[in-house]
Amino acid sequence: MNHQQKSIVQAKKKLGQHFLVDQGIIERIVDAINPETGDYLLEIGPGLGAITLPVLARTKSLIAVEIDRLIIPVLLKKSKSLGKLKIIEQDVLTVNYQQLMQKNTWRVFGNLPYNISTPILFALSSVKNISEMIFMLQKEVVDRMIALPKDKNYGRLSLMLQYHHDVYSLFDVPPESFNPPPKVMSAMVGLIRLDKPRWSVDDEALFNKVVKQAFSMRRKTIRNNLKSLISSKDLSFLGIDPSLRAEVIDGSRFAKITNYLTTRYKYASNQRYPASY
Ligand code: SAM
Repeated sequence: MNHQQKSIVQAKKKLGQHFLVDQGIIERIVDAINPETGDYLLEIGPGLGAITLPVLARTKSLIAVEIDRLIIPVLLKKSKSLGKLKIIEQDVLTVNYQQLMQKNTWRVFGNLPYNISTPILFALSSVKNISEMIFMLQKEVVDRMIALPKDKNYGRLSLMLQYHHDVYSLFDVPPESFNPPPKVMSAMVGLIRLDKPRWSVDDEALFNKVVKQAFSMRRKTIRNNLKSLISSKDLSFLGIDPSLRAEVIDGSRFAKITNYLTTRYKYASNQRYPASY
């Protein structure tokens, strides 16, 4: 075994490398992606090609972003007879999606590196060109993505993803479907971008800030968590009980708080956005 083969067989823990080996699961994933010729498809972390190769066989062309440069030549070799595979050797968190996607509409998929799955989701959720995403993640993260108010998993991730998408869970995947097996249960999840955001928000950055702050200390009330942004009196004026915790408040009420603050900041000439905003 030469050096290159050896380093590929030994999956790199720090890159979250857990390669899919269960053919039945791979088929279900490819069916869920439902690749068709002519699709603009982007894969994140193709690894040794478990999903890449069967998808490429159907679409004949595919772009993938992979950080592990040792894997890339092996994958390119395997893909040759199947179609045109372009691999961008880059950290997925540094990709300029606008530049890559131009004016086209894309679908994105991948068995994500679990250590950076949440930042990947936040980064991709704001890209307008992406109509659909299908990902493998830790089941615990999928539970947070699909959670609704009053669910213990409901939080900033649920709200910020559901703001732009319909989010639905597909199926669970046990550790033995991978080599090496991860310590946790995995699950497939789909996100379909809405034509317009679920809640009408005047200032998205402020909405993000309000939601982030409201959940900063889960056991505290919104009166406490939001006190640097809005008073109890103003929350009550908006019809929102200040003694509630963020975990029972839906997106439309966070949008209401945001829009109220946006208007107030706009018209009060002596007010400024809070320093950290
Ligand atoms: N798709 C393959 C499969 O299902 O067998 C591999 C999935 S493995 C869970 C995650 C992949 O993402 C690995 O190939 C890893 O090298 C790659 N990766 C890890 N961090 C990355 C990053 N920051 N940017 C791009 N790719 C990354």
